Amino acid sequence: MSNKNFETEAIRIASSKSNQREHSAPIYLTSSFTFDSAEEARQMFADEIPGNIYSRYANPNSTDLIEKVCAVEGTEDGIATASGMAAMFGAIASLLQQGDHILAARSLFGSTHQLLTRLFPKWGITSTYGDISDIENWDKLVQPNTKMLFIETPSNPGLEIIDLEWIGKFAKAHNLILVVDNCFATPYLQQPAKWGADIVAHSATKYIDGQGRVLGGLILGKKEFIQDVQFFTRHTGPSISPFNAWILSRSMETLAVRMERHCANALKTAEYFQDSPDLEFVKYPFLKSHPQYDLAKKQMKHGGGIITLTLKGGIERAKRFIDELQMITVTANLGDSRSIITHPASTTHSKLSEEERERVGILPGLIRLSTGLEHHDDIIADVERALEKSR
Ligand SMILES: *Cc1c(COP(=O)(O)O)cnc(C)c1O
Repeated sequence: MSNKNFETEAIRIASSKSNQREHSAPIYLTSSFTFDSAEEARQMFADEIPGNIYSRYANPNSTDLIEKVCAVEGTEDGIATASGMAAMFGAIASLLQQGDHILAARSLFGSTHQLLTRLFPKWGITSTYGDISDIENWDKLVQPNTKMLFIETPSNPGLEIIDLEWIGKFAKAHNLILVVDNCFATPYLQQPAKWGADIVAHSATKYIDGQGRVLGGLILGKKEFIQDVQFFTRHTGPSISPFNAWILSRSMETLAVRMERHCANALKTAEYFQDSPDLEFVKYPFLKSHPQYDLAKKQMKHGGGIITLTLKGGIERAKRFIDELQMITVTANLGDSRSIITHPASTTHSKLSEEERERVGILPGLIRLSTGLEHHDDIIADVERALEKSR
């Protein structure tokens, strides 16, 4: 592995040029690849020589994307998938079997929660949730058949932080496969493999794309695990399209500069509103008031691009506030160049009971703000105006 810096790896790793000698990688819109002879075809199918066979297996554009992200995550190998959820599903389904058990942090992305509670039990794979605030007692939740530990940090939308050094040691001590959904932090802010994660999974739809255009996912990790994941994805077919892989590979080239701005805008916005009389509180990993500020500082380069604002006046005030915004978009995405607002209690997490929401820190007045790449003064002005108008 080379030891160039993040930005350089993300820009300079590229597939070999075609005989057109292009500077920027072309899109390889082809389902299959040709063989020079019957014998070459036999050897490639038998894995005796490397090479592209069929785009469900691999394609130069997906290989390009995987190599870039592996270089900056510090992982050995990977697979690119059609969406983040295909990555979460593939990571679990390929490595576990009937009778296995998963220990997971309670604060998980909504669809991951549905996978663990509604879908995997159909195939005899069960799971238990542990509270992030009670992580010291998680050894009591490990069962004889527990095989996997699944976490996200920072969590969505509660912004709870899990100590990656601690969880890496815990997984090792209990011989569990540690899977980390690194979507919120991106490899620019933290590299879970450095702390012992066996699998790092991504929704590339968010910050890796960065402009709200395409869906994509990644499953990265140690070769021994990725071999099983590869077997699973090759034969079940959640492959990424060459076009989407090309977009995401181009986007990797700007991830570092974009994350710098996302994080700077988030910090400035969080600092500006931290003492606002309209808010119960402002949560952001790099604000001193965050209960895990020291831990965030230890394992993240910056605090990320997501802030939560809890409005005084509960759900009704939160809705009035959203309706008063003039620039910030109301949509179900994050990590876009455009700032986005979401009200989790009435949308993404509405299926949970109020008690369940409270356990993961989603109060009725909580708003999730994904700060975009606009000028921070304009983001702050839009929030400030809507706070005033919604009183
Ligand atoms: C969006 C998201 C996913 C799912 O990704 P898709 O690309 O939408 O399928 C998984 N985990 C986290 C943390 C997410 O934010």
